[in-house]
Amino acid sequence: AKVAGKNCYRFYSRAMDQAVERRVQLEQDLRGAWDRGELTLAYQPVFDMRANRLVGAEVLLRWQHPKHGMVAPSVFIEVAEQGGLIETLGPQVLRIACRDAVRWRTECGQPDALFLAVNVSPRQLRGGDFAAQVEEILAGTGHPPSLLHLELTETAVIGDELRVSGLLGRLRARGVKVWLDDFGTGFSGLSHLRRVPIDGVKIDRSFIAEALRNPDDLALTTAIIAMAHSLGMTVVAEGVETEGQADLLRERGCDYAQGYWLGHPMPLEDLIALCR
Ligand code: C2E
Ligand code: CA
Ligand code: CA
Ligand code: CA
Repeated sequence: AKVAGKNCYRFYSRAMDQAVERRVQLEQDLRGAWDRGELTLAYQPVFDMRANRLVGAEVLLRWQHPKHGMVAPSVFIEVAEQGGLIETLGPQVLRIACRDAVRWRTECGQPDALFLAVNVSPRQLRGGDFAAQVEEILAGTGHPPSLLHLELTETAVIGDELRVSGLLGRLRARGVKVWLDDFGTGFSGLSHLRRVPIDGVKIDRSFIAEALRNPDDLALTTAIIAMAHSLGMTVVAEGVETEGQADLLRERGCDYAQGYWLGHPMPLEDLIALCR
C-alpha cells in the first residue's frame, strides 16, 4: 500500500496488503539467505534411456527458511525475479554448481562426461553481460563449456529473438548447450523457435503425467519427440514417476529422462555416491 500513493490506497483490501507485506518480507529474508546458510543446491540425476546410464544432473535451488521451513522454488524464484535479486542469485547458483560438478566428475572418474543443467531466468538474459558472466564462471571453475546445459523457458526467448540468439550463439560457439524447458506449455511450437539456436527440449511433466492414460498427451509427447529429432535436437522427459512412463518414453525414442522414479533431487554427496 505504501507504494500505491494516496489515491489508490483505498482500493487495497486488507488481504492484498498482507500478501504484499509477506512478499516484501520474503524478499528481505532472501537477501541474507546465502550468508545465513539457508540456501543449498540439490541435484536431480538425468539418465540416458537407451543406455540406462547416468548422463548429467539438473541443479535446483533450495531455501530452508528459519520460520516457514522449506519455501518452494516456484514461490521464491518469482520473488527473486520481481525484486531484482535473481541477477545475483542466478550467477551464484551457477558458480557453486560448476564447482560442485567439477568435483562430481573427478570423484566419479569421468572428467569428460556428466553434464550440469542450470535454470536461467528470463531476467538474467536481459542484462547486457550474461554471456561474459557465464564465460567468466566457466573459466574460474574449470567447468568444461560443453558440459554446461542452460535451461531457458519460452518467455525468456519470445519477443527478443535477435538479441537472445546473439547471446546464445556466442555461448554455443564455445560449446555450451541450450535447452528449452517446460516445452509444450507455451504457445510457440518448435518451428517458431527455429530462429533461436537450441540443442534440445525438455517435455513438461504435465504431458508425461498423463501420457499413459490420455491418448492426446501421448500423441503430443510422441509428436514432440519426432519433431525435435527431425530438427536435430535431443529430448528430455521430466517428471517421470513410474516405470510404465519410462518404458513408454523409451519405446517412443525419448533420449533422456529425469523424475522421482529415476532419482529425486539430492545433495551433492548423494549424487557422487550414485556413480560409486
Ligand atoms: P523446473 O526447471 O521445471 O524443475 C523441475 C521441477 O520438477 C523441480 O521442482 C523438481 O524437483 C520437480 N520434479 C522432478 N522430478 C519430478 C517428478 O517425478 N514428479 C514431480 N511431481 N516433480 C518432479 P522444484 O525443485 O520445486 O523447482 C521448481 C521450479 O523452480 C523449477 O522448475 C525451476 O523453474 C525453478 N528453479 C529451481 N531452481 C532454480 C534456479 O536455481 N534458478 C532458476 N532460475 N529457477 C529455478
Ligand atoms: Ca529446469
Ligand atoms: Ca522443466
Ligand atoms: Ca517447470
